[in-house]
Amino acid sequence: MKWNRTNFIIGASSLALIGLFAFQVKWMSESKKLIEEQFNQKVSLAMCYAVDVIGSKVCSKDCAIVCKTTTEMACGSVQEDGDGYTIETKNEISLSKIEEALSLALNFYDVNLDFHVAVNEQHNFSTGLLPTHSCKLSPMHKDESQILTVSFPGKEKYIFGKMRFMFFASVIILAFITLVFFLANYYLLRQKRMQGINKEFFNNMAHEFKTPLTNISLANNMLAKNNEDVKSGRYIKVVKEESKKLSQQVDRILQLAKMENGHYQLEKESLCLKSLIGQVIKDMDIQIKAKNAKINFVIENESMDFEGDKFHMGNVFRNLLENALKYSGENPEIGINLKKDEKGVLIHFQDNGIGIKKQDQKDVFEKYFRVNNGNIHDQKGFGLGLAYVKMIIERHKGVIKIFSDLNKGTRFDLFLPAK
Ligand code: ADP
Repeated sequence: MKWNRTNFIIGASSLALIGLFAFQVKWMSESKKLIEEQFNQKVSLAMCYAVDVIGSKVCSKDCAIVCKTTTEMACGSVQEDGDGYTIETKNEISLSKIEEALSLALNFYDVNLDFHVAVNEQHNFSTGLLPTHSCKLSPMHKDESQILTVSFPGKEKYIFGKMRFMFFASVIILAFITLVFFLANYYLLRQKRMQGINKEFFNNMAHEFKTPLTNISLANNMLAKNNEDVKSGRYIKVVKEESKKLSQQVDRILQLAKMENGHYQLEKESLCLKSLIGQVIKDMDIQIKAKNAKINFVIENESMDFEGDKFHMGNVFRNLLENALKYSGENPEIGINLKKDEKGVLIHFQDNGIGIKKQDQKDVFEKYFRVNNGNIHDQKGFGLGLAYVKMIIERHKGVIKIFSDLNKGTRFDLFLPAK
């Protein structure tokens, strides 16, 4: 599978979603542990409190209510002295009394759950493996070997009840995020498929246009050749010029498609950039004159040899010059500067045209992008020229940069590395 931006976005968002799920599960289990710990702590306190109070001889007045009641219930008679309550321990364990005492103590700690109490021999449990809710019976009972254990059949339900809101809120949020994730990725993939279909359609259409255009051009030449009167006629020139323009646009689409699909190899040769640019200026003489433009071509160093594809580099300079003419007002002044240093060749294309807004500058190299400046229909184009220029420069391992001021002009800086 080709690793592209869409796959990267889908992969990254899937990972983020998995991470979110994992984090949520971890958070829920940590919360459950915390609630369980709190519960266990309350039960331990309640048990120890109940056993302590039953077994103690003197209770402070602060705990008088729980103390007096629980002691009397489990152990026997309680007598009031100056500071609290003195009990006489009977040393008999009554489970029902302990249950009642514990129930009171649990209520005090806000644990309102059904429970079962039991008295077990400590040696029935291996060391460190005592039941969660267990407590020594001393000082309530003299026998150190006996422990009190309590179990809560509804504990899990109770803990889940405490987490209910958190759990349902998490489920709803996660479900919503998952839905949005699937919808976003579904539309992204659909859009990508549509883009692929459109691209294919464009390329097929360009292919289909190519043959009739070549035929029109050939027929036009034949007509002009065989008929002297027609040759100098205005209409034949229009047909020639327009079919040439159309043919160039079709070629641009096809070349861009070939490059994008990786089916194209540059045919590199030693190029003299000075003469290549000079030739492009010459070829565009009619357009330059029609626009009444001034071209100032400055060559800073004489030797300007560069290893590149002549056809494509020629197209690059033609596109930049064409844009400089197209997007300039009256009497354009275009500067082309060529200079060389030890790292490579630097070429500037400067115009005094309409310029490009800051926020649009990064997009002009995108395919089909055209600046929306209100009078867009004044200048025709497909928004392919600069995408093609960038692709060719990058294929030559070069860099293209844009500097522009609205209503002042635009400069394109090209850097082509030495071989
Ligand atoms: P096209 O000229 O066919 O629309 P390009 O890819 O060559 O496509 O240019 C993209 C857009 O960048 C143009 O539509 C234009 O708005 C803007 N642009 C390009 N060159 C210049 C320039 N020299 N001055 C001002 N705007 C420019």
